[in-house]
Amino acid sequence: MIFFTEVHPAKPHDLIRPAIRAMTTYAVPDATGLIKLDAMESPYGVPADLQAAWLDALRDTPLNRYPDPQGLAVKQQLRTAFAIPDDLDILLGNGSDELILLILMAVAEPGRVVLAPEPTFVMYRHIAQAVGMTYVGVPLDDQFGLNHKATQEAITHHQPAVIFIASPNNPTGRCVTDTELEAVSRAAPGLVVIDEAYFAFKGETHGSVLDSIAQLPNVLVMRTLSKLGLAGLRLGWLMGPAAWLTELEKIRLPYNINVLTQRSTAFALHHYARLKEQIRQICEMRDGLYHALDQLPSFTAYPSLANFLLLRSRIRPADAVFQRLLSNGILVKNVSHHHPLLEGCLRITVGTPQENQALLRALHSLA
Ligand SMILES: *Cc1c(COP(=O)(O)O)cnc(C)c1O
Repeated sequence: MIFFTEVHPAKPHDLIRPAIRAMTTYAVPDATGLIKLDAMESPYGVPADLQAAWLDALRDTPLNRYPDPQGLAVKQQLRTAFAIPDDLDILLGNGSDELILLILMAVAEPGRVVLAPEPTFVMYRHIAQAVGMTYVGVPLDDQFGLNHKATQEAITHHQPAVIFIASPNNPTGRCVTDTELEAVSRAAPGLVVIDEAYFAFKGETHGSVLDSIAQLPNVLVMRTLSKLGLAGLRLGWLMGPAAWLTELEKIRLPYNINVLTQRSTAFALHHYARLKEQIRQICEMRDGLYHALDQLPSFTAYPSLANFLLLRSRIRPADAVFQRLLSNGILVKNVSHHHPLLEGCLRITVGTPQENQALLRALHSLA
């Protein structure tokens, strides 16, 4: 006896929302055998003399048990390592990408707007589209600074539910000043998320927003271990008022931070002084590389407060420069088609001294 009526099943086209069908998959190129300067990874892994201790820390990890759903040890280590004020709550994410998803899932209503100065990190747009929100990019000025008038007009017109500001910004390497961040936050009718993925590369002269702007009631600050030599761990954290984070906590999947990540993070943060030393070296190499790139006659380099540099090719198309580097075994990111302001631009992650030299040699042959 058959109780069920057979029907024709839906095709993806019938069921998948149009906004998602219109999206493209976030593409990651294969970097096998290449000098990898495309993804802002640190060229350094766990320091050699710490590897045995790190493996020891993982040795008796109970893989048969779920991880601590709260990640309490990780949060405590983050508080200590980064001097997070007691009045800010912490939400852990599987990378900051997941935190962007949680924030936007929580506020998504059709017609609501996500706004960001552009060019910037592509995930804001990607995730806004995925959750059915409207994304609005406000062009930066031609030196990649915030365009105050255009930003105010866009805020007035669109009343954005969320504004994302990456500082230092990807792919420009530029910071928004604290004064600008505060002014935008006070002008914003919704949330302002300050994405500080590159906070560690800003240098000591630039103070932490945690003690100032993060105290405003509609501001959240997001950071990640990814650019600090730990991209493989996938750990990001969001800091802000408990009133906001307790709402977001409701939709965080209970075990989003796996047990190996929790243990490795606690270990890495316990040795944060060593990571800081690597970061200091990367900043030095970045500044050296900037000056070397800026000497190249047919290129303009932009100063950066992150672990990468933006390079504009003034004569040859960026596509040709990208291919030439690739044929020299060097993978960078071709961002020239991402935004009109990025015409001719490549984004280059700072590598080891040898990798940076190989890059300069290849570019010299083009200059
Ligand atoms: C790389 C990057 C991130 C991604 O961080 P994950 O923690 O690896 O997800 C977030 N924001 C900006 C601006 C980035 O450049």
